[in-house]
Amino acid sequence: MRPPILACLLVVSTVAELSAAPLKAGAAAADITPKEFPMNMPGGFNANLATTAHDPLNARALVLDDGKTQVVWVVIDNLGVPKKVVAEAKELAAKATGIPVEHMLVSGTHTHSGVNPADEPSAADAKAVAYRQVMLEGISQAIIRAHASLRPAAVGAAARPLTHEVFNRRWYLKPGKMPPNPFGEYDQVKMNPGTSPEVLDRPAGPTDPDISVLSVVDAKRKPLALFANYSLHYVGGTPAGQVSADYYGEFARLMPSRLGAGEGFVAAMSNGTSGDINNVPFLVGRPPRAPFEQIRIVAGEAADVAWQAVRDIPKHQNNVVLGVRQRLVTLKYRKPTKEQLLYAQAILAIKDKEAIARLPRLAQDYAARTLSAANRPEETVDVILQTIRVGDVVLCAVPFETFAETGLELKQKSPFGRTIVIGIANGKHGYLPTPRHHELGGYETWLGTNQVQKDASEIVVRNLVEMMGEMK
Ligand SMILES: [Zn+2]
Repeated sequence: MRPPILACLLVVSTVAELSAAPLKAGAAAADITPKEFPMNMPGGFNANLATTAHDPLNARALVLDDGKTQVVWVVIDNLGVPKKVVAEAKELAAKATGIPVEHMLVSGTHTHSGVNPADEPSAADAKAVAYRQVMLEGISQAIIRAHASLRPAAVGAAARPLTHEVFNRRWYLKPGKMPPNPFGEYDQVKMNPGTSPEVLDRPAGPTDPDISVLSVVDAKRKPLALFANYSLHYVGGTPAGQVSADYYGEFARLMPSRLGAGEGFVAAMSNGTSGDINNVPFLVGRPPRAPFEQIRIVAGEAADVAWQAVRDIPKHQNNVVLGVRQRLVTLKYRKPTKEQLLYAQAILAIKDKEAIARLPRLAQDYAARTLSAANRPEETVDVILQTIRVGDVVLCAVPFETFAETGLELKQKSPFGRTIVIGIANGKHGYLPTPRHHELGGYETWLGTNQVQKDASEIVVRNLVEMMGEMK
């Protein structure tokens, strides 16, 4: 039986009318590398202070215009999408270009070695305040410059698999190998349980190996932009303290050579549905790597596959119809039960160091997160869902770390010829496990990692499928 969509509130919905005008496109990148250090790199349980930038961070923008409708896709090198900064950047760009904010998709690559542009940094933290401004100007300027460079163009899309760099990181373990979770219970699956064949049984979900490309060429068929999508978490292997755009940045630097592109060409690699997918070689022998080496390997392979995918495009089209749908969907925050709250309080009351050491790993971290979830003043959160149509291609934007099977489900249910599912888009509200994965447990489902109601993935899929159907 399907539960009713009680928690769903429709606020904005726009759609393009048919247009026959030839397509125009523009692309631009803006540097958003922090200039002042040290700054914290979020994404782990402990502070990780950046002292230098190994390679630059960018905001990369693509603007398409079919004569009636304009759409924007920006990919930023950041762990997430700081909601308020991005909303402000969209407003700035809307003022300068006339493109409605609902037609702008801003997604984060999910590099774990980027810095944090706090939505509301304390005024005392001058570096965080300054970086917020760098991010704000980078996103808005990339859109404004891409819009200013609109010229006759044609688009095409294709996908090819890069299978051996994606691994489902949630595993069933051999009998007796499952450690207790931070709540003192036993999950059925474990995230990143190491690589030992003595411990690993089988992965708990699929991977989506496809690298999708949206390729844009100018009137002379010269490459103008290539926006790719791969369902792989960051690669990592970076030394402590160094800012890096991970394989997403390296991919963008390699693509001009793959495509023979000249000045003004912009490539970007966006994050797909990689909430449960990473690059750890489970049950596969991989030699030790030097810092940044695995990033370069994955980026090089991804660039090769993207090059092949572009060659698969029979003909770039200049008569495509653009369309946009945006919905604001209200989801309930998860709150701890009375028993969970009492357990958390008891765990936090333990002060003796040896007693703490005997607790399950991260027990006090998650006890603190349980209390914050209980004390959260809001009962619900409004999340942005968006679909953008580019001819027979559709982009689905999900503001979560989305699981691979949710991306595969959207691709299967889509009425369009090609579907690109972009995670961490227009916001980031934690992981989005499916109800099946909530049953299995594991890191991504834990209260404090996971924020919203357990059937949220079903609500997201139902809405996106409806929105795609409305545009077709
Ligand atoms: Zn992550």
